[in-house]
Amino acid sequence: MPIDATQPYDDQNIFAKVLRGELPSKKVYEDEWALAFHDINPQAPVHILVVPKRAYVSWDDFSAKAPDAEIAGFSRAVGRIARDAGLVEPGYRVLYNVGGHGGQEIPHLHAHIFGGRPLGRMVG
Ligand code: C5P
Repeated sequence: MPIDATQPYDDQNIFAKVLRGELPSKKVYEDEWALAFHDINPQAPVHILVVPKRAYVSWDDFSAKAPDAEIAGFSRAVGRIARDAGLVEPGYRVLYNVGGHGGQEIPHLHAHIFGGRPLGRMVG
């Protein structure tokens, strides 16, 4: 079920449990700002999720409230993960689903990184 992007943060969401080590994940990267792991239901040969370490419901919440250093640190982590996965050439996609129309289901911000095949044009 898609979430309401304006809802309060629920610390029992799946990615909060992954961050606390209460649920397993196939980790690919971690630093002070971000944790990245393989999506459990990959939609491309490479499908990595990147979550901020701190509690943000969505990209809306994060972009409005996170300190600049955290936005920079998280953004750099997303780029580095894609680079380290060898995706820069031939290319990849970063996607943030936000709220109901965006199809967001887990109420902890996550960037999807897709790659490993031609992804087609996606302009909505
Ligand atoms: O953007 P959205 O919230 O819809 O994406 C959630 C993603 O989290 C899905 O791609 C789903 O496969 C993934 N997921 C996961 N591990 C879980 C639950 C969901 O990787 N335990």
